[in-house]
Amino acid sequence: MWRVVCLLFCIAVAAAMDLPKPDEATPTVDWADEPTFTLGLQDETELDLEDEPTPTLNLEDFYGYNGMMEYLRNLSQAYCCTVTRQSLTTTYENRSVELVKISDGQGRSEKKVILLDAGTHGNEWITTTVALKIVHELVVNQDAHARLLESCDWYVLPMVNPDGYEYSLVQKLKLWQKNRSPHGGQYGTNLNRNYDTHWNLTEDAPTHSQYYPGSSAFSELETLAVGGLMRDLVETKREFLYITLHTENKSIFYPSVFDTKTGKADGLLHAIAQLASAAIFEKTRSVYVPSLAYGYDGVGGTSLDYAYEVGIPLLFAFEMPEMRAEAESKTTFITHQAMEGWEGVMHLALGALEMYSPSKSSSNTTNPPSDGSKHANSTCAPATNDAPSVFGSFGLPAATFSALLAYLALAVI
Ligand SMILES: [Zn+2]
Repeated sequence: MWRVVCLLFCIAVAAAMDLPKPDEATPTVDWADEPTFTLGLQDETELDLEDEPTPTLNLEDFYGYNGMMEYLRNLSQAYCCTVTRQSLTTTYENRSVELVKISDGQGRSEKKVILLDAGTHGNEWITTTVALKIVHELVVNQDAHARLLESCDWYVLPMVNPDGYEYSLVQKLKLWQKNRSPHGGQYGTNLNRNYDTHWNLTEDAPTHSQYYPGSSAFSELETLAVGGLMRDLVETKREFLYITLHTENKSIFYPSVFDTKTGKADGLLHAIAQLASAAIFEKTRSVYVPSLAYGYDGVGGTSLDYAYEVGIPLLFAFEMPEMRAEAESKTTFITHQAMEGWEGVMHLALGALEMYSPSKSSSNTTNPPSDGSKHANSTCAPATNDAPSVFGSFGLPAATFSALLAYLALAVI
């Protein structure tokens, strides 16, 4: 719908403008820096691509690297005003770490950014499919999710570790987490141990271990690129929300992974995680526990802690379940998990937008509203005080359940 409006607006602007004469130099558009939207210079492209069909999101099987690339290529051609792609880096095995930028086309370069990544661990295949589901929903059904795009752009990395992912998927090595860079006769670094935050302080993992943290912090091309993107968002004051998808605890974690250090925003982070948890339960009856990350891992070098340290104010590790082969079909699991993952990420974003205005600086981080005030977009967002009805399903009063969760979080501190 909005692309039609966009096209009509482009035509009106072109008619009203003093267009360059044939012998005048035609201005060029730099898509590399701010590729989300331009007026007047891409009318023909839009007309040509308007007829590109919307690609189908395949939920029958896990996406491989080539399938993901084909889907993203087709999507960006069909929705060229909304979606742009960028290769964040090239891996040791010469694959692209794709960055998908999604904007509602308002052309505001100062908009805050919701950064979401998946496929950091090679064996967590479902996370890439969930990331593609989120991209699909935001782009194809953008009119229904206007609230999620009006204040923020989305930067999505569906497969941070394409080498490790492909190796695990093709070889059916469900325990392979690392990338595939060589280290003294062994292969691979665990990318979620390689960020430059408390690197290699707690684990003594040799090169053959799936937890090998690399030869130094940011020794890997993938983490170097993602870490650089995080810093760039902060330096350009576009930092807002970071969500990293993992398996297989059904939990919504917030920093710190490494230690018990608490921050001024912990109450806010817990409230947003709790809201998303409640929304998922209401939709699917699945229980995702909102919690401080420490106590589950207690390790250094994670992307979550690095994002926290560089100054992204809101951030979560969204841990989804793995498929239990004996219990369900692959298609059933993928379809269900894609829906559940979208529900969780959508409500983490809506909660963040409700409780923390992206227009504010991180110094304005506030505690969650104590009056249970509702989301601005009440049509698709649950009220903060929806939680009682959900947690009441466990047979516990809401206050008791919340107190129990708070106690458990404190217990690991
Ligand atoms: Zn993981």
